Amino acid sequence: MGAFNWFWKAMGAQSERNDKKSKAIVEDSAAAHSRLRELSDEEVAQLARGAVCGGEVKDKPALLACLAVAAERKLGLVPFNVQSQAVLRLLSGDVIQMATGEGKTLVGAMAATGFALTGQRVHLVTVNNYLAVRDAEWMRPLVEFFDLSVSSVTEKLAPGARREAYLADIVYAPVNELGFDVLRDNQISDRSQTVQAPAQVALVDEADSVLVDEALVPLVLAGSRPGTDPTGQITAVVARLKEDSDFRVAEDGRTVSLTEDGAAKVERELGIDSLYSEENIGAILVKVNLALHARALLIRDVHYIVVDGGLQLIDASRGRVADLQRWPDGLQAAVESKEGLEVSDGGRILDTLTLQELMRRYPRVCGMTGTAVEATDQLRQFYGLHVSVIDRNKELRRFDEADRIYATLAEKYAALVEEIAAIHATGQPVLVGTHDVAESEELAEALRARGMDPSVLNAKNDAEEARIVAEAGDIGRVTVSTQMAGRGTDIKLGGADEADHDRVAELGGLAVIGTARYRTSRLDNQLRGRAGRQGDPGLSLFFVSLEDDVVRQGGEGEELQVQPGADGRIESKRAQEFVAHCQRVTEGQLLEIHAQTWKYNQLLADQRIIIDERRAQLLDSDAAWQELEERAPQRAAELADVPLETKITAAREIMLFHLDLAWADHLELMDDVRESIHLRAIARETPIDEYHRIAVREFKELAQRAVDDAVETFQKVRIDTGGAHLDEEGLARPSATWTYMVSDNPLAGAGNSVLSSIGNIFR
Ligand code: ADP
Repeated sequence: MGAFNWFWKAMGAQSERNDKKSKAIVEDSAAAHSRLRELSDEEVAQLARGAVCGGEVKDKPALLACLAVAAERKLGLVPFNVQSQAVLRLLSGDVIQMATGEGKTLVGAMAATGFALTGQRVHLVTVNNYLAVRDAEWMRPLVEFFDLSVSSVTEKLAPGARREAYLADIVYAPVNELGFDVLRDNQISDRSQTVQAPAQVALVDEADSVLVDEALVPLVLAGSRPGTDPTGQITAVVARLKEDSDFRVAEDGRTVSLTEDGAAKVERELGIDSLYSEENIGAILVKVNLALHARALLIRDVHYIVVDGGLQLIDASRGRVADLQRWPDGLQAAVESKEGLEVSDGGRILDTLTLQELMRRYPRVCGMTGTAVEATDQLRQFYGLHVSVIDRNKELRRFDEADRIYATLAEKYAALVEEIAAIHATGQPVLVGTHDVAESEELAEALRARGMDPSVLNAKNDAEEARIVAEAGDIGRVTVSTQMAGRGTDIKLGGADEADHDRVAELGGLAVIGTARYRTSRLDNQLRGRAGRQGDPGLSLFFVSLEDDVVRQGGEGEELQVQPGADGRIESKRAQEFVAHCQRVTEGQLLEIHAQTWKYNQLLADQRIIIDERRAQLLDSDAAWQELEERAPQRAAELADVPLETKITAAREIMLFHLDLAWADHLELMDDVRESIHLRAIARETPIDEYHRIAVREFKELAQRAVDDAVETFQKVRIDTGGAHLDEEGLARPSATWTYMVSDNPLAGAGNSVLSSIGNIFR
């Protein structure tokens, strides 16, 4: 009997995926919904609590109906059946595919509320700070209807408020903040300092971006170390230099150098004989060069912005503010000095965590995105997640044109600008998706020359750009945007208030134009998805040239025999197929890199788990004191006068300090090993085995060294009623830490440089 039960349960779970079954549940819930209209808020909330039992949803139709009633009463939104179905799939732990504009924000909040009702804390993972706050506030009445709490965590939130926010039943937070808090919590030496309360569910918005595209992006925690100090005087001298006569910028805009005149000027003003003498090369010339680089090559608002007295770097390839990323030490300081900001210290990496590792810490992960289907393989392979496709509420009326293919980049851009001008002339709004900030700027310039007034979005300011994008569907608008900009904001026809909806619909709706195919068709579809929401008309169209990176990389070694027309246009079915083929090749390469990198990361991820366990043991017990007492009984005896509690705390601090230090050393070492091992990859050896061998050996040593060093410190450090005075031994933890995301990962970003580097690895 038991075996049969199991069998039927398994069958049930499977057939529920099948539309029919879940549609039946949704229909039941719709019927229940009308009956619930009679009940008071309190009664509905009570009913919802009754629909769950022992951490499981017992009565799905009832739960869905209660959530729907709450959404109707508190948000004025009656969930469409397709939305309820999506909630159902999320509660079963799937990644759902739902097109843009279908109302994923509501779906996510309903599902999160469902999880919270079963007693599981949910982290609703957003792609930026702006969306975390917007969605939490928008959905708050729904969540609070059930006596549950909701909060948002953002970059700006101070530690005390953060700790508080994490206690809510549903926490909206950008993925990097969640990861940074994990990293910071792994540096504490007293349990009470923990900021993040554990969550059982991660519900990921834009799941394919987070779980696939950025999965291998490391989040980094770095700590201060007395810095390289670029003197303000050098900055001032460099500021007075003149371009061309005193210094020259190379044609590619990547390097800058002093002329002889410039060097003489600097020498005079600094009162030194020669910049190039042995004593000055290290101390002064380096700083002069850094200051010059900062002045001539790094442009405010293009490469960085100044916010709250600090620098925020702009990631050129993706066009968004890179999270507190820093330039290599000296350069960061040089730019800070140039901007008259307080110069920050240099630092070292204390710990790192990839988004993939972060996600795997949650017992349950589910997610939503407009483009999950194309990521099915990755989601299954790396996370064991299943994709459910949710029907559209209204039929898609967007027209996806075939690619317009040109022989050269120049011909493509000429045609692109022509097409935008032609569409614009009719009043139809146009959204142009570019690949990087530089391309956006160039295109905008060309459009201005043609009398248009485009809005350009580079993901510098999420809130401001959300406002602009919301208007992108209004009559006569031209918006130029990188892929990351304005994400998560719905583009309604006729402006955010839809005042001119019908007129724009008559003009054909929003026209979306891609300046080149992205490296995966999934990214193309993300852009296309911006048009044709909720049954609106719309158009999507990509321009391609045979000189595009995707085509060159993916089609390497292949020849396409075609005759372009006078304007360079290539109209042949074969060319269309060739472009699609090239994209499939680059997709395959990316998947291969992902799989490779995953192998490298996995071992360190496993080792981190061991470190985490050890940390927890040291934090939550007096193991540290017992171990030190055993290893150094004499020293322990000397401390007879110190209260036991103080000794336990002191021992814990010493042990944790050395454990963390050893781990940071380990990460640094393995990073170096990986760099050098990559060289061997080209020589076709099997570097991964070598890497594993070294990692395992080093990790064993790490554990031993951490304890030995702790014993040594314990022997000599002053310990009294005030605890262990680690700082007297130069062993204090960094006085300041900062966090950033490394985004020059080959898998991140849509930039063209990405593809060139892939070419190198695979050749
Ligand atoms: P997505 O994230 O899927 O692109 P959003 O969550 O931003 O979509 O929602 C798009 C728009 O649809 C929002 O303006 C929202 O208010 C509206 N919306 C969502 N669900 C409903 C509903 N059931 N009835 C009416 N409007 C809805």
